[in-house]
Amino acid sequence: MHADGSEVEVEVEVRRSRRRTQTVSAYRRDGKVIVMIPDRFTRAEEAEWVTTMLQRLDKSEQRRRRTDEQLMRRSRELCRDYLHDKVRPTSVRWVGNMTTRWASCTTSTGEIRLSDRLQTLPAWVVDYVLLHELAHLIEPGHSKRFWHWVDRYPRSERAQGYLEGLAHAIAMDLAPCEEPAEN
Ligand SMILES: [Zn+2]
Repeated sequence: MHADGSEVEVEVEVRRSRRRTQTVSAYRRDGKVIVMIPDRFTRAEEAEWVTTMLQRLDKSEQRRRRTDEQLMRRSRELCRDYLHDKVRPTSVRWVGNMTTRWASCTTSTGEIRLSDRLQTLPAWVVDYVLLHELAHLIEPGHSKRFWHWVDRYPRSERAQGYLEGLAHAIAMDLAPCEEPAEN
């Protein structure tokens, strides 16, 4: 199946739910798009909603996704605002092969990598992850001094809670969002 005019093949898995009566939702999982629909939908309704949900998913991801250049620019701003400009990363980029962590850094080279699973999260959560890795360029471990830097970011604690909750939701196979059906 082709998503909204793009060249990329998207594998779609439709899950029908008897409990689900009014709502359709879609999310990405392991390179697939899962579309959840009520069991009563006809094949035609199913096809129509799959197309609609793929388009919505693409649009919301495009709105949110930052490029590597934007990540680098944002890193400089975060360093300036919260880390007294003490560090300068040499590279900041998205990576697709990170499954057990949200991000990582190499302190000796100043390289920072963010899991592309973060791409659709709110910017203030991505900012927290960036700042966390940037602070590791000053303090490699999770010491008191490390948290002193990270906690200068006002939403540090909230972002940590968000990521913890999300990790649980992923493990529980919950859809992160739900769209009301319109008919
Ligand atoms: Zn850390």
